[in-house]
Amino acid sequence: MGTGKIGIMGGTFDPIHYGHLVTAEAAREKFCLDKVVFVPSGNPPHKKDKPISPGMDRANMTVLAIANNPYFEVSDIELKREGCTYTVDTLKGFIKIYDEDVQFYFITGADAVMEIFTWKDVSTILKLCRIVSAYRPGSDINKFKSMVDELERVYRSNIHMIEVPALAISSTEIRRRVREGITIKYLLPEKVEDYILKKGLYR
Ligand code: NAP
Repeated sequence: MGTGKIGIMGGTFDPIHYGHLVTAEAAREKFCLDKVVFVPSGNPPHKKDKPISPGMDRANMTVLAIANNPYFEVSDIELKREGCTYTVDTLKGFIKIYDEDVQFYFITGADAVMEIFTWKDVSTILKLCRIVSAYRPGSDINKFKSMVDELERVYRSNIHMIEVPALAISSTEIRRRVREGITIKYLLPEKVEDYILKKGLYR
């Protein structure tokens, strides 16, 4: 019998790495989630001017990365959507799929959550889900806490913060390493590493 709690793991995943996988598993355990659905972002409005790998490659890497965790799934809900993809629409899409009494936990990076005031319909987002904001060791925790306090004050929202040491790994660093010909072994699942090398991503 499930708990009726589902994690939605939002990210660009360019590429997915162990930091993401550890974050999802930590959130699943901490909040007793029935499962975590990874949602590679579609056309995020804040990335318009930044080159990102094709959605198909990011989704394929995500599928390879989660393969041996029975509690993890991947959804192409954002990749199928035309135009800019907004988290509020993703949440509404999930609500249509699941029972109305399911509680959603939107899990993502703290640096992304720091920008949440700029997201479309933030008040609706905060009504539709709880936010799990994962931060790297060495992050300015006071900055995050004051943001969370502000969100809780303005929107009476539920925002949880989790420190994830494995988030010392970052997608930016992995892309840089590939570009410079430095090893990425042990930073991400081997199958994802093979995919990157085979497809010539991030060169
Ligand atoms: P980003 O700006 O690429 O990443 C911000 C930081 O958070 C990076 O340090 C990133 O590290 C980390 N991060 C991202 N996703 C993470 C995850 N699931 N778990 C742990 N750390 C994570 O952010 P993004 O990936 O584009 O966006 C994150 C989520 O917010 C996506 O679902 C996106 O659609 C949503 N978002 C929505 C709106 C909107 O609705 N208007 C606007 C912005 C973002 P890595 O680079 O190592 O992943």
